[in-house]
Amino acid sequence: MSDRYAVIGNPIGHSKSPLIHTAFAKATNQDLEYTAIEAQLDGFAAVVHAFRANGGKGLNVTVPFKLQAFELATDQLERAQLAGAANALKFEGDRVVADNFDGVALVRDLQRNLSVALKGRRVLLLGAGGAARGVLLPLLAERPAELAIANRTVEKAQELARTVGAGNHIVGCGYGDIAGTFDIVVNATSASLKGELPPIVPAVFATDALAYEMVYGKGLTPFLRLAQNAGVKRLADGVGMLVEQAAEAFVWWRGVRPQTRTLIDKLTVPLT
Ligand code: NDP
Repeated sequence: MSDRYAVIGNPIGHSKSPLIHTAFAKATNQDLEYTAIEAQLDGFAAVVHAFRANGGKGLNVTVPFKLQAFELATDQLERAQLAGAANALKFEGDRVVADNFDGVALVRDLQRNLSVALKGRRVLLLGAGGAARGVLLPLLAERPAELAIANRTVEKAQELARTVGAGNHIVGCGYGDIAGTFDIVVNATSASLKGELPPIVPAVFATDALAYEMVYGKGLTPFLRLAQNAGVKRLADGVGMLVEQAAEAFVWWRGVRPQTRTLIDKLTVPLT
C-alpha cells in the first residue's frame, strides 16, 4: 500500500497541495497517496488522530488549524516553536512531530525565485496571524534594515514585535501608524480571500518596491491592485511560497528534494 499523506484545513477545496505532492512523488519516484481533508472547525484533533490511526504518515496544515496543529504535537521543532504554529506534521511511532516551513519557503521564493534580496531592505509585514508568525524569524535572519508588522488587531502585532524584539529593528503597529516607505511589502493577511483590502495607503511602497501577496491564484487581488495603482512594478503572489513549502515538507517526509520551477510556472495565474 502507498504511504498516505494529506492537507487538512477549512475550507480546503482551493488547495493545490494534492496536485503538487502528487507531481513531486511522480518526479522523484516516491510511492505515496496525497489527499485533501476538510475538518470541522471543532474537529481538528479527532480528524488528525483518525488519519494517523489509519496509517497516515504526515499532514500539511492550513487555515485555520496551524495553532492547533502546534499544540497537538508531541515534538515541536525549533521553527514551529518560534512561530507558535505548525504547517506540517510527521507521524513517527507514537510521536507527532511539528514543523513550520512557511518562513523558509517565503525567503526562498523572494531570494531564489524572485531575486529580491532582504539584507538591508525595509520590510512591511501585513497581518499577525499564523502565516505572519511563521515567516517573521526567517525574514529577520536575512537581516533587513527594518521590519514593521501592521495588524488590524494592533495588540497582536505589538506582541509579535515584542517577542522577537530587542536589537532587531522591529516594530508592531496598527495600519494607521505605519511610518515611512518599504522596499518589500508582504500581505500576510487573509483579507484577499474575501476580496478585502488591509487599510494601507499607496505611500507605503518605496520606489522599485515588491508587493507580495501570500494568497495565491486569485490574480490581481485588492492589495496587488492598490500596489499597481501606486506605480509598483514588481508584483507577486504566494504561488512560489506554496510550492516551496510543499517541497520542504516533501524533503522532510521522504528525504528527497523535488525540483520546484516547473510546478511554479504551471500553477502561476497571471496577475491581471
Ligand atoms: P490567520 O487566520 O491566522 O490570520 C489572518 C490574518 O489576517 C490576521 O492578522 C487578521 O487580522 C488578518 N485579516 C483578516 N481579514 C482582514 C481584513 N479584512 N483586513 C485586515 N486584516 C485582516 O491566517 P494565516 O495567517 O494562517 O494566513 C493568512 C493568509 O496567508 C491566508 O490567506 C493564507 O491563504 C495565506 N498563506 C499562504 C501561504 C502560501 O504558501 N502562499 C502559506 C500560508 C498562508 P486580525 O488579527 O485583526 O484578525
